[in-house]
Amino acid sequence: MMAADTACSETVMPTRKHIYIVYTGGTIGMVPTSRGLQPQAGWLEQKLRSLPEFTRAEMPEFTLHEYQPLLDSSDMSPQHWGQIAADILANYSRYDGFVVLHGTDTMAYTASALSFMLADLGKPVIVTGAQIPLGELRSDGHDNLLNALYVAAYHPCAEVGLLFHHRLLRGNRSTKVNSRGFNAFASPACDPLLTLGIDVQRRCPPWQALHSRTPEWQPLQPQRVAVLTLYPGMDFRLLQTLLEQPLDGLIVQTFGAGNGPQQPQLLDALAAATERGTVIVNHSQCQQGGVSMGAYAGSHALAQAGLVAAADMTLEATLTKLHVLLSRSGDRTQVITAARRLLPRALCGELTEAGDE
Ligand code: ASP
Repeated sequence: MMAADTACSETVMPTRKHIYIVYTGGTIGMVPTSRGLQPQAGWLEQKLRSLPEFTRAEMPEFTLHEYQPLLDSSDMSPQHWGQIAADILANYSRYDGFVVLHGTDTMAYTASALSFMLADLGKPVIVTGAQIPLGELRSDGHDNLLNALYVAAYHPCAEVGLLFHHRLLRGNRSTKVNSRGFNAFASPACDPLLTLGIDVQRRCPPWQALHSRTPEWQPLQPQRVAVLTLYPGMDFRLLQTLLEQPLDGLIVQTFGAGNGPQQPQLLDALAAATERGTVIVNHSQCQQGGVSMGAYAGSHALAQAGLVAAADMTLEATLTKLHVLLSRSGDRTQVITAARRLLPRALCGELTEAGDE
């Protein structure tokens, strides 16, 4: 990894940059309708072009690609993550950076997915949106988008970031924590990349250096992945029913440092699914600290049943990483073995490896 100073430059205004905006939907461009807020085709670009601050000489130029249909991000699926990644790749050499406008509800999933799909990214990709539509009084979309364009052009970090409420978070470390506040996102286990006050300040070195090579494309194939949260008093027949389905991957949300009840009904069902080739991940319900397999007998038993540790990854990062790893081409047994090996290892800053703390 190159030194932080080179990788995340804090330059005085150079030549005017050009940013490509991928507009997928979300509150930022929504208007009130009789059925609640909904995106309206064509509205956002017209609005932006009418706001003088977006076209000031100090700002980068932008080209906006509006998707059809525009979506509430609750409707986003892995297929849409693939569409956004392919769009960025197709335009990669023509622009200095990329901004993805997206609903906040599943923004952290898309940011995480893009970080794994665009391996060896050398230009900034910044995902942002708003809690209040741009057309309404007190919209946070104005500052979020203005800052995203400015940072992508003049303080670029070579990775996928999520910009919200004056902070650029590492995309695959972010999670939505507030459905009504402007401070909607947190990065519980990693400092922000940048904080935006009077000065733009770097808090955490970017994942890698800026470069102009085209990123490696990690496409997605449909995967049957489920998430199961453990809770006291759970009837393990529920798990058995779930595991009767043909699952490629299962994320088990465990207690504390990755512990589960030492019940044969649970452990036998998990071990049998591991045997059948399901990749099962031990993900902690805690937001910080992550999983320490083997620290307690409760996690040792899960390790014996074949679970692999999600370390301190967010659920969003764990789920999208699982999708990307299981989508690799090649012999299925080898793909499964590689997924189990790589899940606990950092691919692009998504987890803290032992010794990194
Ligand atoms: N439901 C909206 C969405 O995720 C919420 C938002 O954008 O803030 O698309």
